[in-house]
Amino acid sequence: MAPVAVMTNSNFAIIGGGPAGLAAAELLAQHGHKVTIYEAMPTPARKFLMAGKSGLNITLDEDFEKFKSRYGAASSALAPALDDLMPMDIRRWANEMGAETFVGSSGRVFPKAMKASPLLRNWLGRLNDLNVTLKTRHRWAGFDGNDLVFNTPDGKVNAQHDGTILALGGTSWPRLGGNGDWIEFLDQQNIGIAPFQPANCGFVVKWSDHFRDKFAGTPIKSVSATSGFGTQQGEFVISETGVEGSLIYHHSTALRDALTNTGKAELLLDLVPGQSLEKLTARLEKQKPKQSLSNLLRKGAKLTGAKAALIRELQPLASKRTPAELAQLIKALPLPITAPQPITHAISSAGGVLWDEIDSNYMLKKRPGLFVAGEMIDWEAPTGGYLITACMATGRAAASGLMQWSIQK
Ligand SMILES: Cc1cc2nc3c(=O)[nH]c(=O)nc-3n(C[C@H](O)[C@H](O)[C@H](O)COP(=O)(O)OP(=O)(O)OC[C@H]3O[C@@H](n4cnc5c(N)ncnc54)[C@H](O)[C@@H]3O)c2cc1C
Repeated sequence: MAPVAVMTNSNFAIIGGGPAGLAAAELLAQHGHKVTIYEAMPTPARKFLMAGKSGLNITLDEDFEKFKSRYGAASSALAPALDDLMPMDIRRWANEMGAETFVGSSGRVFPKAMKASPLLRNWLGRLNDLNVTLKTRHRWAGFDGNDLVFNTPDGKVNAQHDGTILALGGTSWPRLGGNGDWIEFLDQQNIGIAPFQPANCGFVVKWSDHFRDKFAGTPIKSVSATSGFGTQQGEFVISETGVEGSLIYHHSTALRDALTNTGKAELLLDLVPGQSLEKLTARLEKQKPKQSLSNLLRKGAKLTGAKAALIRELQPLASKRTPAELAQLIKALPLPITAPQPITHAISSAGGVLWDEIDSNYMLKKRPGLFVAGEMIDWEAPTGGYLITACMATGRAAASGLMQWSIQK
């Protein structure tokens, strides 16, 4: 994106104080603009803080072309923004914020503190030093002509600005602030929005009472899972209502789309990814006949506990199988999925403002002067730091777009 000429005295609004909104505010204020962030909650960036509970995977250290391709159908639309805020820029920026980062497993980048609060504190401190005003408990309630309208504890408040960036987030974890109430106000402007759906989410599996009581909360480690997305090794957790965890999130788009398109979905689990089918078959064939399934699985495949129980749960007739058939099951155990877990518990959401509604500067074509950024736009990505990176990148791209627009108008 072209560097933006310095222009002062514009008075811009950012609505939504998550990573997209804060990144936009920072760039605008660094260019000398007066910026007010309006945030619905009593404090900003609650989802960012929640992401910090699992270490704050802020970006990913991998081949950049591969990185940019991980946003599915939105990859090419997002590319210019990501070119302007690359993973190494995020690491440099975090370092400036006093949050030195390290590269963990599979290239995931985390602050050394493994939490978000110190970084957020310093980020808000920087915005304060740049004279950014933060108005909390201001929930955007649409337009009154050209005015922005907010619901506040003191009633309705109108505000006038020279341009606005909406950075209102998706609809997962609504208790953290983003509940999609803004959809109504953009609908009123005839702005197309793809319905929100859970992304990076767990799925419902109909466990028997016995299995649920015994194994809910148990991690299943060192397995691989195959869906329409491909095959990936990792781990997941048996939950009360189904399956959760990074390996499941990895397959969530493929599973969700299969459920939408065909009404059914399954994951094929390989419970012993280190062993070939041939070797496993040979080992099972060597076992004494007529022993219990538990003994056969333990001695022939080194499977015990929850992994062995999964076979019994999902294949009640497994004990009647030949060694070759049993080996096949252990290497490709079908796990039937019935539905995604509710969006209220998803890490992120798919759907949002359609790309056709947005120009290359992130401005809404039908509402000049109104820009959008972050997860409220129609893109999705796996976990791994792709989400926060794209939120910050689109926040900065919308801020650049707003500055260009305000010079040209
Ligand atoms: C449990 C969990 C763990 C996660 N871990 C990671 C991770 O490790 N790495 C990663 O990359 N991503 C992670 N994410 C996802 C990441 O946090 C989000 O993608 C990111 O926060 C979205 O940024 P955003 O600025 O677009 O929206 P948000 O962070 O949702 O911010 C939107 C803001 O707008 C405010 N708002 C909403 N509506 C209104 C309104 N009408 N008026 C005023 N304000 C409003 C909200 O209160 C909120 O503060 C995680 C998410 C969750 C839930």
